[in-house]
Amino acid sequence: MPSAFAFVDLAPQRARLGTRIDDAIGRVLDHGRFVAGPEVDRLERELGAFVHAEHVVTCASGTDALVLTLMALGVGRGDRILVPSFTFAATAEAVVLAGAEPIFMDVDLESCNVEVQNLEDAYAACTDHAGPPPVGCIPVDLFGCPVDYQALASAGARKGMWMLVDAAQSFGALRDGRPVGDLARIATTSFYPAKPLGCYGDGGAVLVRGHDLDALLRSIRNHGQDSRYSIHDRIGTTSRLDTIQAAILLEKLSLLNAELAARNRLAKRYTTHLAGRFETPHIPSGTQSTWAQYTIRVDDRDDLIDRLDRAGVPWAIHYERSLPEQTAYKDYRDPTGSPNAKALARRVLSLPIHPYLTENHQDRVIESLCEA
Ligand SMILES: *Cc1c(COP(=O)(O)O)cnc(C)c1O
Repeated sequence: MPSAFAFVDLAPQRARLGTRIDDAIGRVLDHGRFVAGPEVDRLERELGAFVHAEHVVTCASGTDALVLTLMALGVGRGDRILVPSFTFAATAEAVVLAGAEPIFMDVDLESCNVEVQNLEDAYAACTDHAGPPPVGCIPVDLFGCPVDYQALASAGARKGMWMLVDAAQSFGALRDGRPVGDLARIATTSFYPAKPLGCYGDGGAVLVRGHDLDALLRSIRNHGQDSRYSIHDRIGTTSRLDTIQAAILLEKLSLLNAELAARNRLAKRYTTHLAGRFETPHIPSGTQSTWAQYTIRVDDRDDLIDRLDRAGVPWAIHYERSLPEQTAYKDYRDPTGSPNAKALARRVLSLPIHPYLTENHQDRVIESLCEA
């Protein structure tokens, strides 16, 4: 049976904004500064204020945000970087694109995130063998729940590693009451349409704090030019956020607080009805997820999927395989064997969650899961 409603539905948000998006796009069409227009600067300031980042450098995608940052950090051939085994491929892909070598670290079975022990185990296992020690690590705020930034940054620093957090799913999340731009020296995010803050195309940003990386990032995203046109001081690339996307994001940003509250309410409601029957997401105290995904862990996934399909309930799997099990990444090193990531890939099931999901539709999800 086809789904009776969408897994992610962007239409109600557009309706709520009325003509504001169309008007914002119209203003860009009128002024004609399609690249580096005034909306981009304004957006960078407003994003920084929202997540308490000192500097925000927007770019063409969340993947590019990672690649630009790795370039700015001087990462290249011969460098090894720890990335989670259980994440969207872009985290590891960016390392390869930057010319370096991703080394996988396992995640925690409960949080699905990298914890200090996972970082230390992977570091120890890979330095047991030949080759240089990793120079950095990229934990991921999976499903929108922030990692323990402080503990991971200190654990990494003890080994001489820098930390960059892939916050593609967690823009607006809190850990110990602090937003991601306040917690990290460097974090990246994505504005892919289905992310908690999405544009109408591709977009991304680097969030910087206590660092002078922002000027370098601005240069790299614009062909290695500094402020003067046609003076190239370094190798860069072309990765700017379109002014139209910035104008769209400015309108959407005004709804984000209310939307995050709605996601949180829906997540609580899922947990109230599903905890006990299924392994529901574990969010540490003082932490607020963006609920980019509401992902439960189940043993009889195929049966449940059949049941959801019969009821017309949409679902998704994030992610079907751990990265070391993916053909594209099978030759990269996974020194601990990542047993947790492999187990999670077989057990995770994401349920529909977005700010405009109705309680009626949510009840349908809950009922079809619980009809035993
Ligand atoms: C979506 C996502 C990205 C990539 O973002 P794009 O904007 O699609 O390039 C990177 N990492 C994670 C964890 C993501 O979920």
